[in-house]
Amino acid sequence: MLIPDIIIAIDGYSSTGKSSFAKSIAAEFSFLYLDSGALYRGVTLFAMENGFIGQNGNIDEFSLKKSLENLDIHFESGPQGSRTFIGGRCIEKDIRSLAVSDKVSPIAALPSVRNFVNYKLREFGRKRRVVMDGRDIGTTVFPDAELKIFMTADPEVRARRRTDELISKGNAVSFEDVLKNIEERDYIDSHREVSPLTMAPDAIVLDNSEMTMEQQMDWIRQVIKDRFCTR
Ligand code: C5P
Repeated sequence: MLIPDIIIAIDGYSSTGKSSFAKSIAAEFSFLYLDSGALYRGVTLFAMENGFIGQNGNIDEFSLKKSLENLDIHFESGPQGSRTFIGGRCIEKDIRSLAVSDKVSPIAALPSVRNFVNYKLREFGRKRRVVMDGRDIGTTVFPDAELKIFMTADPEVRARRRTDELISKGNAVSFEDVLKNIEERDYIDSHREVSPLTMAPDAIVLDNSEMTMEQQMDWIRQVIKDRFCTR
């Protein structure tokens, strides 16, 4: 199917499978895939490793903001798909840990961090033909995106999927801890002052609680065909 150069914004709750869905869309339509959460996770890892988050969880926003001016965080494409780097170090595995998941939402709530990430995302997305996933892509980063999808699923279904994924990658985690983390992130993401997780008025909802990836792909093919293909 031939489709025009558009931006596809995929927003929604944590662990709804946004990135797997976005990657499949990118592969099928030869789009560039950008994972905005990876940048928030990367900044969080950077903050943790550089002592900007205290024992009590307090964040030294002033010092973090200053350090971001020189932070080289970027994506590199390779045989395993796109990976996130800080300078020459691949941080892909480190940023997926539960330790980073535990700290990322307070870091992502800071206006200075959001400005930094949004600037990077807009740079990466300048060329269109991009599918980007996150929490505020269709509302804040690319409000003019031609196609906006809002993903949701039952929290227990999300926690089960995420637990299985983490365990398959060798992380020792419990379903209860993952569910707690998902519920906490949903709350913080939806209640923060800057750019909270909300659905853009022109977004289409996809509840994938009971859908396989293939069913989701059939759904998006139909949406794209109806909207953008005249033949
Ligand atoms: O998508 P992922 O779960 O990897 O994102 C990690 C965290 O980054 C989210 O829980 C959220 O706090 C933050 N985030 C955000 N805005 C985005 C993408 C992610 O606030 N566009």
